[in-house]
Amino acid sequence: MNDLIFRLDPALQHLLARAAELAPAIDATVWLVGGVVRDLLLELPIGRDIDLAVEGDVNQLASILAEAWGGQIAARHPPFGTATIVIDQWVIDLAQTRTERYPHPAVLPEVQPAPIALDLHRRDYSINAMAIRLAAAHGQLVPMPLFDLLGGVADLADRRLRLLHSQSLRDDPTRMLRGVRLASRLNLIPDEATAAQIDDALKAGYLALLTPERIQTELCLTLAEPDPAAVVALADRWGMTHQLIPGLGWTPALTDRLARYRRDEYGIAPLAPAEVVIAGLLLYDLSDTELAMVLQRYHLPTAIRDLINDLIRLRRLTAAIVAATSPSELDHTLQPYGVATIAVLHYATDTPIPQLTARYLHEWRFLRPPLNGDDLRELGVAPGPQLGRLLRELRAATLDGLVTDRIAAEQWVRQQLATSSS
Ligand code: ATP
Repeated sequence: MNDLIFRLDPALQHLLARAAELAPAIDATVWLVGGVVRDLLLELPIGRDIDLAVEGDVNQLASILAEAWGGQIAARHPPFGTATIVIDQWVIDLAQTRTERYPHPAVLPEVQPAPIALDLHRRDYSINAMAIRLAAAHGQLVPMPLFDLLGGVADLADRRLRLLHSQSLRDDPTRMLRGVRLASRLNLIPDEATAAQIDDALKAGYLALLTPERIQTELCLTLAEPDPAAVVALADRWGMTHQLIPGLGWTPALTDRLARYRRDEYGIAPLAPAEVVIAGLLLYDLSDTELAMVLQRYHLPTAIRDLINDLIRLRRLTAAIVAATSPSELDHTLQPYGVATIAVLHYATDTPIPQLTARYLHEWRFLRPPLNGDDLRELGVAPGPQLGRLLRELRAATLDGLVTDRIAAEQWVRQQLATSSS
């Protein structure tokens, strides 16, 4: 297990070796910590976010490393002992090792520098509380033992999610949301004490004490998970979804529509960002009032806000869509809405709406009539509102198959002009 670190990308190893060589000059020790260590043990791919814990002066070390690596300091908060350096594809977070004290539930902690051992104790779950000290010789990392003070390796092997102390969720209820994401992604089961603490924290209503911004950050991270729907299903099983979003629950209908999204029979999924469509599918059964509350409570990304606003209106139109007698009528109904909203309707409804929305998304919305504005002017239509109206009507006639080519379109225009002048 000493050679875990050699699974990292060689270019990243090189950066970390430089850090290990430079840190002693300012009496600092650097540790690789958190999710990267966990994912190295699980042999999972390592993302771009790398967490380093520093026993020593982070501010000074950040300046030294940014220069040595040729990276950019993207953020620096000396009072908090944190800094972020962006170098190549990596975002490297440096944080001074610390203890935390939570004066009240769910508020940000008071922090104090402390050795790595205490820093590991203040973390959320045992599997996220492992570290590897960085050491190097001749520009290369040297093998170092895994510092597993809190039993993370055994918990990972047994697929156990374990909080580190009995007040953990009272101190920071976001850990519940981190826990459900981790448990879902890595297929973990909370141990008895953790499960009991989750129940108690939910009963005590600690989630409600968090600022909406903190919950919203976690919700957005959930949508960015490989399988956000599975996270929500698990969150519902743990009994937390209603506290986050009143009205949200895991139902057979939701399971069905997410299964349809995964099957994607009509090839709609690539047309809109997955996290936006999935958000819409999760929220589809909420009432207008519940959706309005979501909008009011959380400052969600614009694409998701727009989708919710659109969805409130579009889902009222399902009867009109089914009753539409022509493609042009459907086109007229759907045209004001974004692709993501129409995609949500597509997966959330039954025959014939999925077929109709698929044709709209793949064909009808792109359809141009055989003649454009210049052609119409050449046929004697004066520029102005009449030209715009005729173009729209010609497009509708084309959608409905009444006009199939240029000649038919020219005839159609002449007919319209004759009728309007008579
Ligand atoms: P991933 O990004 O894969 O979800 P990660 O564990 O790297 O996982 P980060 O949010 O980058 O996630 O956190 C880095 C580390 O910081 C965690 O592994 C954990 O040790 C610690 N940590 C993060 N958030 C908390 C928290 N709310 N309470 C305690 N420790 C935390």
